[in-house]
Amino acid sequence: MGVAAPVGFDSTEGDVVTGSAVRVRGLWKRFGQQVAVGGIDLELPAGKFIGLVGPNGAGKTTTLSMVTGLLRPDQGAVEVVGHDVWRDPAEVKARIGVLPEGLRLFERLSGRELLGYTGRLRGLPGAEVDKRATQLLDVLDLSGAQHQLVVDYSTGMRKKTGLAAALLHNPEVLFLDEPFEGVDPVSAQTIRGVLERYTASGATVVFSSHVMELVESLCDWVAVMAAGRIRATGTLAEVRGESASLQQAFLELVGAGGRDAGSDLDWLGGGTR
Ligand code: ATP
Repeated sequence: MGVAAPVGFDSTEGDVVTGSAVRVRGLWKRFGQQVAVGGIDLELPAGKFIGLVGPNGAGKTTTLSMVTGLLRPDQGAVEVVGHDVWRDPAEVKARIGVLPEGLRLFERLSGRELLGYTGRLRGLPGAEVDKRATQLLDVLDLSGAQHQLVVDYSTGMRKKTGLAAALLHNPEVLFLDEPFEGVDPVSAQTIRGVLERYTASGATVVFSSHVMELVESLCDWVAVMAAGRIRATGTLAEVRGESASLQQAFLELVGAGGRDAGSDLDWLGGGTR
């Protein structure tokens, strides 16, 4: 396949939102010989808590980066809430919040300063930014550290600060890449509560994870990805099918069901050192 410029949807629907938060058609990304995303089609319903799951290297981060306008696809089209990500980036970016993998924050600002700056960049009035920042810092249990520099924050505090920054402008769709990785159970519960409240109001959350129990307990809709392809999509019940759990369905879908990972490591734990 040759590398072509990204193309838009050949759609007559214009700005009309059709019930899909995200529509992806024929999306490709290669890094040298490595196909990270191999021509995927994906339609994510609006107003749902959606999990994008897959093993390490499946292409989840690459997909989310292309969907959120952070990485240009080799080929394909992405539409978010009715707007083409690559033809109409400003419209899309105003409507989404993103917590990317390996989030970089301004280290020499305090948490509160960072939120104040982010909200103003988003074009919100200063008083509104300050009000929302106070509420988010409080709900996310960051009030006590709000005047501390971000450089001194722990991993979980950084994730929560990033989440607050992504929520500040009340986006229609929130994209989160591994939001619970490196987060303690108490903070995870807090993040979870915030996200559940946010989706209950009709907003959409799309998050990537390989923790199946988490996806099973949080999501009402799932897309399973492996080796750069979408293997299954649908409600939790549809994807789980006859399997006892999402974990089991996932292992069957990605072809790892019967692997005995320990069988080749006969030296491990034995008497020979
Ligand atoms: P994980 O769960 O481990 O984060 P993932 O599903 O998010 O994995 P990606 O990070 O999207 O997977 O990677 C998909 C494939 O693309 C991998 O084989 C990875 O090595 C490759 N890849 C991703 N980014 C780059 C890059 N910038 N340069 C070269 N290869 C890359």
